[in-house]
Amino acid sequence: MSLDHIMSLFVLLAGTCVGSFLNVCIYRLPAGLSIAYPPSTCPQCQQPIRFYDNIPVVSYILLRGRCRFCAATIALRYPLVEMLTGLAAWTVFLKFGMTAATPVYFTFIAVLIVITFIDIDHQIIPDILSLPGIPLFFIAGLWATPTTWSNALIGIVSGAGSLLLVALAYQRITGKDGMGMGDVKLLAMIGALIGWRGVIFTIFLSSVIGSLVGILLMLQGGGSLKTRLPFGPFLALGAVAYVFFGPKLIDAYLGLSVTIR
Ligand SMILES: [Zn+2]
Repeated sequence: MSLDHIMSLFVLLAGTCVGSFLNVCIYRLPAGLSIAYPPSTCPQCQQPIRFYDNIPVVSYILLRGRCRFCAATIALRYPLVEMLTGLAAWTVFLKFGMTAATPVYFTFIAVLIVITFIDIDHQIIPDILSLPGIPLFFIAGLWATPTTWSNALIGIVSGAGSLLLVALAYQRITGKDGMGMGDVKLLAMIGALIGWRGVIFTIFLSSVIGSLVGILLMLQGGGSLKTRLPFGPFLALGAVAYVFFGPKLIDAYLGLSVTIR
């Protein structure tokens, strides 16, 4: 095993531990509970979870997905979020290596994972994540990525502005609130880090994937045109795709050989 392999493995495992914390955030933030205290307990029998039962992914397998004390089923969601976060850490590290961009993009994706699952569960995107994320990712992006302050600033304004227009138009036409303000603030946060090209890319990809999933759900009879699909997860997916492939795809699309950022 080379040093590179050891580093990759370490990043992957550390990522799953962060994923374990993200599970706590997903569960507690919408309920307005502290994410630091008290330690996790079984939702069924309230027994504190022992440290040896709290090892990401591994404990779930060893416990066969059940609480040690009351045998209540542990949601498959927990190890999945842990694996997803570990995979995110690993792939970000593979792409950006030992640069400042790695922790910034990983934090970005971690926040998007929390937002995604909270939006799926509750159809809300907590302001406590998206609003501070705007200035924080603006500064972090300037520090760690090849963006410029004007690109990031236009990213924030175009991100918030475009979805605000969609929301207002929808409200004007149907007389109902269709798109939440949570999505507006989320896309502002996304634009703060990945800039205005990232915003356009994210809107495009999330609309395409969101429509496809909506159609699939309707075909399965699981919803109708009235079913409100949370849009946050698709915005998150689009933004993550941009982090990994966006600039390259845009260059290929424009037929440019030089990367412009
Ligand atoms: Zn239990």
